[in-house]
Amino acid sequence: MFNYWRNKKKKRLLLSLLEKKAAEANLAVIVVSPKEITVHEGVRLKCLVPQCEYYGVCRLCPPNLPPVSEIRAALSYFQQAYLVVLRYPPVAREEVWKPEKILLDTVNELEKVAWSKGFYRAAGLVVGGCKLCERCAPLHEPCRHPYRARPSPAGLGIDITMLAKRKGIPLSWPPGDELIFLGLLLV
Ligand code: SF4
Repeated sequence: MFNYWRNKKKKRLLLSLLEKKAAEANLAVIVVSPKEITVHEGVRLKCLVPQCEYYGVCRLCPPNLPPVSEIRAALSYFQQAYLVVLRYPPVAREEVWKPEKILLDTVNELEKVAWSKGFYRAAGLVVGGCKLCERCAPLHEPCRHPYRARPSPAGLGIDITMLAKRKGIPLSWPPGDELIFLGLLLV
């Protein structure tokens, strides 16, 4: 019983720290249960149809990722998840890297916050896949930024769109007056 209350307190404290850190970059954090996260092979199929330009090119994109069944099983390892939401004004395609970088940097910071508070499982994901290098290093070479690079939820088969909709995030296609970029922190 004591452990239950201690964990609850720890998670409450973590949430307030994550919210504070995210707010510094104008992002929001929403608590999610890992059980609310849907993982499906169909999500990954969408990396292929229509084919994303990073498919098979980036080491953190399909088919260079573990099978979806493995990701589904891996999710049960995590106790809590946080949806990270960045709202951004419409930008030209060639400028999309700017909000994507804000999202990546923030998710990496949130991961650090969680890790420093004893949540050693902390793992962050960001939409859009890794674009830190102009072209990803060949597979037989090491990643150039292994501590910064993060895969996208969709590449892993995680239906982050469904999750965001469940949490009331107003996603729309085509996008309206704002763009929404999503990340996920698992702890
Ligand atoms: S940091 Fe560079 S080498 Fe590493 S996954 Fe990203 S694009 Fe590829």
